[in-house]
Amino acid sequence: MAWSISLGTVFGSEIRIHLTFLVLLAWIGIAQYTQGGAAAALDGVLFVIAVFGCVVLHELGHAMAARRYGIRTPDITLLPIGGLARLERFPEKPIEEIVIALAGPAVNVVIATFLILVLGAALDITVLEAIENPEPGFLARLAAVNIFLVLFNLIPAFPMDGGRVLRAVLAFRHPRAKATHMAASIGQALSFGFGFLGLMTGNPILVFIAIFVYLAAAAESGSTELMQLARRLRVDRAMITHFESLGTGATVGQAADLLIGTTQKEFPVLDGANRLRGFLTRDRMIVALRTRGPSTPVLDAIDPEPRVVPVSTRLDKAIGEMQAPGTPFIGVVDADQRLVGYISQENVAEMMMLGTSALHPTPPAPPGPTGPHIARRD
Ligand SMILES: [Zn+2]
Repeated sequence: MAWSISLGTVFGSEIRIHLTFLVLLAWIGIAQYTQGGAAAALDGVLFVIAVFGCVVLHELGHAMAARRYGIRTPDITLLPIGGLARLERFPEKPIEEIVIALAGPAVNVVIATFLILVLGAALDITVLEAIENPEPGFLARLAAVNIFLVLFNLIPAFPMDGGRVLRAVLAFRHPRAKATHMAASIGQALSFGFGFLGLMTGNPILVFIAIFVYLAAAAESGSTELMQLARRLRVDRAMITHFESLGTGATVGQAADLLIGTTQKEFPVLDGANRLRGFLTRDRMIVALRTRGPSTPVLDAIDPEPRVVPVSTRLDKAIGEMQAPGTPFIGVVDADQRLVGYISQENVAEMMMLGTSALHPTPPAPPGPTGPHIARRD
């Protein structure tokens, strides 16, 4: 997700924090300081860290449930209204989606119960009306925040967990794309409700949530329809077939000339039999030029273990493979392991924006004189 920074990796999931989350933290911190000085600011900072921890645990709840069904979670992004655990693929069955969606709020139920029953925190949800007020005590506020996270995430609107449960329930009776569309429409209708309420009551947070929910619902609807389509297509319908490549004897200096002379930002390096040895990216090129100079062989600068998939691979599987960390490109090979094309995160993103019209209308011809255009620079 754009506008987010990485904090590290837990159980194989990269924890990312969305910049709007930091805005919320700053708002709370400043509010605390202006009202109660340094001590209140410290309390505020500790509280914010505790809330942050609860949100991480919520998302890890989703990730752990997904793991039960063999689905990895490459990254988790924290937002002011909770978080988004980005699963490697969609759960196949509606019931799996329901379990994964409910696992997050369930974690907050456990945390709130623990705080109230074991640590004796007061149960008072009204403290949320003035969360920057430290009066009700640290644990009571934390318990209230966890109850809020449960209630908020169960609102049946994307991207909240309640929206996913709604979609899964609808998917028992309707095809997945239609269920997503219906759930997204309900979410968008609710976001108008939030926006209206926010404007009427002069609450900027509600307006912010409304805009966020509206945009997220629209994005979810679009990408699900595309993934649905991708299940029925082979990777060659979406791959890049017109590209320049480098021979194994080429130098980084020659690659740099190619970078300037073309619009490509990455170059497949092919051996004499057209087998992929790796991708030379612009970033790797710049590093090699800076540290070792233009005469560096490209073979020393590439990522040595490129991923390749056969040309018959389903497009959604290939896109799924690209979710693995450090895999911005996937080579597509024919039966003789010769490279016939590749897909990149960028061209998949373009496809998402353009929709089905971006797909090749017919599968490309087999490689050879009439095959993909691969210009070779040795
Ligand atoms: Zn959740």
